[in-house]
Amino acid sequence: MNIFRTFKFFPLKSNVHSTRYLRTLTEDVEKLSKTTWDVIISGGGMVGCALAASIGSSPLLSEKKILLLETSPKTEYKPDPNKYSNRVCALNKNTKELFDSFDAWDKICNIRMKEIRKMVVWEACSDARISINYDNMQDEIAYIVENDVILNALWKTIDTLSDKVHVLRGIKAANYSLPSNETDLVTVDLQNGIPLTTKLLIGADGVNSLVRNKMNIKYINWNYNQKGIVATLKLSEPTENIVAWQRFLPTGPVALLPLRDDLCSLVWTVSLPMCDKFLQMADEQFVDSLNTALWDEESKISVVESAIQNLKNAISSITPGYESVRQLPPSILSVEPNSRAAFPLGLGHATEYVAPRVALIGDSAHRVHPLAGQGVNLGFGDVKCLTECLEKSVYDGECIGNLKNLLEYETKRQRHVIPAMCDCIRCLPTNEKHNDRSSFCINMFDFCYINSSFFSNL
Ligand SMILES: Cc1cc2nc3c(=O)[nH]c(=O)nc-3n(C[C@H](O)[C@H](O)[C@H](O)COP(=O)(O)OP(=O)(O)OC[C@H]3O[C@@H](n4cnc5c(N)ncnc54)[C@H](O)[C@@H]3O)c2cc1C
Repeated sequence: MNIFRTFKFFPLKSNVHSTRYLRTLTEDVEKLSKTTWDVIISGGGMVGCALAASIGSSPLLSEKKILLLETSPKTEYKPDPNKYSNRVCALNKNTKELFDSFDAWDKICNIRMKEIRKMVVWEACSDARISINYDNMQDEIAYIVENDVILNALWKTIDTLSDKVHVLRGIKAANYSLPSNETDLVTVDLQNGIPLTTKLLIGADGVNSLVRNKMNIKYINWNYNQKGIVATLKLSEPTENIVAWQRFLPTGPVALLPLRDDLCSLVWTVSLPMCDKFLQMADEQFVDSLNTALWDEESKISVVESAIQNLKNAISSITPGYESVRQLPPSILSVEPNSRAAFPLGLGHATEYVAPRVALIGDSAHRVHPLAGQGVNLGFGDVKCLTECLEKSVYDGECIGNLKNLLEYETKRQRHVIPAMCDCIRCLPTNEKHNDRSSFCINMFDFCYINSSFFSNL
């Protein structure tokens, strides 16, 4: 039997099968353990899968033996035209380009995604507002895609690369033994005790990364004591839904992302007590609270308003007719049944992304607040950069896990990720009571600064 085939392990369907499945799994994994892998990617979330697809489709890396490990078992994804997932991401153009490079973007488009052609950011304490759109809305700014759709496109791409990328699903990496120098290899112990050996380990295992933990590096993290409430919302009036809306409230930003002409996805940053309240209340009450958050005028501060009016007058006198027609946000009719959920929000940064024969990508290296839709896009930026660094190692005849090229990856990515993270920090309420209203105008300008990098060069 060819030991380099793709192994996929399915959930155990019944106790009758379980002993046989477990024995097969152990036997197959034992065979895999006899190989020295060039790359093991630990974690098959969006970022780990994207790396597997990226290096698996690189002609320069075609001789490399790649293994992707993912704890969760394989599931069949069937999109339901009437039901959208409450977990979505705003993907930028660089991500689209990356996905195009390994033929995964068409797989997303074949299911569904929504283009954003305009972004409107405004705030609660004044009439200040910023709209972002390119070329009078001819061009897309970003794309809203459900996480399930992204993952499905990536797994389908990996299936087409099964002669290059080998997959182990439904089994966890329980421990990693990392070398202190470049001479030794990495050992990955699976939860059934079987060891695997690799020249390069990639930690794509998310926020609570065990790989990062084993690297024994500093991880700077900060809990916002806030959660992001997500939900799928029905609009009161179906419209050409191509605008992403975000309002800065004294308690945190609320964002509506277009899904379909009559549907939006919500990401609402709230404090922990508010979150409990919003999750427990009846649907109608929740929708009322949300419409108030989007429309309420009571938080306006007269000093800020008059300062903004003076600024507007000054700009009008220099550039007559600069002011555009103000577009109003949509109002919400209802929340889709069972779509309300909440996720903790935090910031985290590994001070080092690499060590001999190890590299971190995605949320295992950096975690940001979702207000600027940056998180997974930064991870996909890691994928592009790391693929190029690995290609360079091979092109130069060096070992794939050589520290010199890994350090180049770390430098390039930290130069990009750290400024983006700093702006996310400045954009949020900083005091415990979240009532620091004075900073909200500045927040919006910060937001635009972050997004200028979001649109251009991630
Ligand atoms: C409310 C909210 C909204 C967001 N919106 C956006 C947005 O609009 N745009 C954006 O860019 N980002 C957004 N993000 C951020 C984005 O969701 C994350 O950045 C992204 O999911 C990180 O992907 P990842 O693959 O790095 O990590 P994860 O998704 O955490 O994947 C890690 C994977 O590793 C596996 N794993 C873990 N440990 C092991 C192990 N020991 N062995 C084997 N496998 C293991 C896990 O099963 C998992 O599949 C949002 C986040 C939140 C909370």
